[in-house]
Amino acid sequence: MMRLMIGGTLVMAGLAAPASAQLGQVAGRVRNAVDAVDQVKDLIITEQEEMAMGAAISEKLRQKYGVVQNQAVHKYVSLVGHVLAASSTRPALSWTFIVLDTDGVNAFAAPGGYIHITRGALALIRNESELAGVLGHELAHVTQKHTINAIRKSKTLDLGTTALSRSQLLDRVTDAAYESLLENNFDRGDENSSDEIGIQLSNAAGYAPSGLGSFLTKLADRNKDLQERSGVFASHPETKSRLDRLKSQISSKKLTATATVAARYTATITYAPTPVTAVATAAPGAAATPAAPKPGDSRFGLGGLTSRLGGEKTGNQTVASAGSRGVNPDRDAKGGPNPRAVAVTITAADIAAFRQGITG
Ligand SMILES: [Zn+2]
Repeated sequence: MMRLMIGGTLVMAGLAAPASAQLGQVAGRVRNAVDAVDQVKDLIITEQEEMAMGAAISEKLRQKYGVVQNQAVHKYVSLVGHVLAASSTRPALSWTFIVLDTDGVNAFAAPGGYIHITRGALALIRNESELAGVLGHELAHVTQKHTINAIRKSKTLDLGTTALSRSQLLDRVTDAAYESLLENNFDRGDENSSDEIGIQLSNAAGYAPSGLGSFLTKLADRNKDLQERSGVFASHPETKSRLDRLKSQISSKKLTATATVAARYTATITYAPTPVTAVATAAPGAAATPAAPKPGDSRFGLGGLTSRLGGEKTGNQTVASAGSRGVNPDRDAKGGPNPRAVAVTITAADIAAFRQGITG
């Protein structure tokens, strides 16, 4: 048994690895690159590993975009998110909602329940049902494990030619998942499925399920002069067919909730949207440079002596690959200065009281 240190909690994972392997019997513990590809395809990730992966991805997003240092805003977004999560298929997950400090309009769901939405997205949204639509969509990416499945299906994950330990493999998967999230690289089927589940979560909470479509319409209008589709939902089906699909789901599934809750939204969220042409951008990847990993600084597992061997992708290479893309106003939007997470406490009583305010 190998002990994994994750998030300060010592857990035991069933990874059969003799202790001696950690001290250099590399051949007994690692596999060649071909096997590593199969490892990804067959990868079964424990919930603890999923959480650690999400925490690492969230950290990268927070470093890139900064965090809005406002507790009331975080509490409000978290309350909407928790109400939705309560009727999801993973209500017990430790859901965390983070507002990123950038004018870009974006949202990112990292595995393990880390949901990010940007200040720019909140500025474009005008009521709680629209916020619920966006958060519900992102929640569904987590409950359906789309990120991990996308990596599993990916044939392009760069595993190098060197044998990988499990912690190295998970580090690579995490880096790939981060890049994939920045590019909004979910496939169309996953996007449609997230839309469908998201509006059902909204409806179950009492929110008008048209909120997502209403937000998407505004977003399309904002971006109408852009050459390249940008930011949130960049990979998503074209807006028109997507809106049609949402409408038919609302009618076929008889989603009849009506609350939009505009007053409570605008009482808390007072940001003004920045026109897409006025969004300041950072050099692609510039703000995302992670600190160089220290030896043994694996996010997964013991790491220890060997976790960073083997030509793993470093921050520099990540920046280089990001730099080869064109500037995208939302993905490359400048971030705020403070990456510190804003902790909020949400009790069951808070959620119950908040629910009372969802009336249409
Ligand atoms: Zn999506």
